Amino acid sequence: MIEEIMQYDTVIIGSGPAGYTAAIYAARANLNPVVFTGMEPGGQLTTTTDVDNFPGYPDGITGPDMMADLQKQAERFGTKVIYEYITEANLATEVGQIHKLKTSSGKEIHAKTVIISTGATAKYLGLDDEKKYAGSGVSACATCDGFFYKGKDVAVIGGGDTAAEEATYLSKLCKKVYLLIRRDEMRASKAMQEKVFKTQNIEVMFNHELIGLEGDMVVQKANIINNKTNEKSSLELDGVFIAIGHTPNTDLFKTQLNMDEMGYLVTEDKSTKTNLPGVFAAGDVQDSVYRQAITAAGTGCMAALDAEKYILQNFS
Ligand code: NDP
Repeated sequence: MIEEIMQYDTVIIGSGPAGYTAAIYAARANLNPVVFTGMEPGGQLTTTTDVDNFPGYPDGITGPDMMADLQKQAERFGTKVIYEYITEANLATEVGQIHKLKTSSGKEIHAKTVIISTGATAKYLGLDDEKKYAGSGVSACATCDGFFYKGKDVAVIGGGDTAAEEATYLSKLCKKVYLLIRRDEMRASKAMQEKVFKTQNIEVMFNHELIGLEGDMVVQKANIINNKTNEKSSLELDGVFIAIGHTPNTDLFKTQLNMDEMGYLVTEDKSTKTNLPGVFAAGDVQDSVYRQAITAAGTGCMAALDAEKYILQNFS
């Protein structure tokens, strides 16, 4: 049986704030967009609880509700949302050529433009307790969830710039911040390290690793080990922030699109253009620095505008 090839002006891969904002703008520009949600419809925000820093929600909103709103808004203007993921991308290399994609159910998709908003995934340690207490004391985003630990004790795991930044941010909200670093030195920049060491309520614990969590429904205790002495101990606390890095979801495009050394897609200055014509990148997949829902949404809007211009210039 010959499968029907589905043709679109704009295919958006990924359904976080970047993807849905791109869809809203693309649909309103009559680009007949389709969003492939990927394996985690709604993206990283669906794993957070309350979002208090997205403009327009004076009383805050839960991550899943916000993503449902964004999807509804995109669908209102005719966006098609398909609950599949893209398994193959054969991106065109010449201006005006069609990009060819394959979906998880084997459908072939042809697109004049592709917006990649596949996001990034926070790395976790791999402990069962991280899953058990997800959203109940375990987080990978201090800017998103730090507020809920006001006046409380927390731990940050990691020794890079993200961990140093998260610890410094949390030190302004929390009573005490333990920073657990697996080696006897930090990977973070000297400037960030200095900030950490100068902050009175951050206790840096070198050679310490998290091995488990305890608590009745929510985290109340972190079990840790000194990996030099093998001595185990525990910390009474209310939350643990895992800050050991993110992995951009770019495997699919590895041989085709330019990436930096960490795997983030590289875009042209002040645009969402990748190195291939008609392929644009928005959100965390191209941003290792800001990583906020609102900045992702902003670049989603830019990607749709870039796609609209590309189609006007090359297909009319
Ligand atoms: P990094 O990869 O730089 O650091 C990860 C940290 O987590 C390291 O200390 C690493 O330890 C530790 N780690 C990794 N796996 C484990 C594990 N299983 N158990 C315990 N600890 C672990 O990631 P970041 O997210 O910190 O930074 C990513 C990039 O983004 C960097 O280039 C950074 O400079 C940049 N960045 C810049 C910022 C800024 O300029 N304001 C802010 C945030 C990030 P080890 O060192 O032993 O490998």
